[in-house]
Amino acid sequence: MPRATARAPRVDGDRHRRLGVPRRLQLHGHEITVRILPLSKWPHTKSAVGMYDPTLHRIDIRGDQPDTAVQQTFCHELVHALLDEMNHKLSHDEVFVDTLGSLLQQALASFSNRRPSARAKSHR
Ligand SMILES: [Zn+2]
Repeated sequence: MPRATARAPRVDGDRHRRLGVPRRLQLHGHEITVRILPLSKWPHTKSAVGMYDPTLHRIDIRGDQPDTAVQQTFCHELVHALLDEMNHKLSHDEVFVDTLGSLLQQALASFSNRRPSARAKSHR
């Protein structure tokens, strides 16, 4: 079992956790699986950095991108998945999907449970 003794950690699994990109999620009872793949295992056209397959309920993300781009790609494909689940034609509007995906990434990446600072409280 040479794999078991290999020094390389399970990089992709660590990356899912580190970037807050889930391995699976549920939409309308469908399990959507999410894969971050190295370029060598990318099964789709090389011009794409992400892919949502509505038949397989699977999001693929190319791993040879910076962390923020991986998160943005995940959010972009998640927006496709959400809109496809709604049967909404906006899923075919790449500008809309990309803008909403980018905003979603910003929101998710900046989630905080810290209380607002006193300075931010305004009492007029
Ligand atoms: Zn797209």
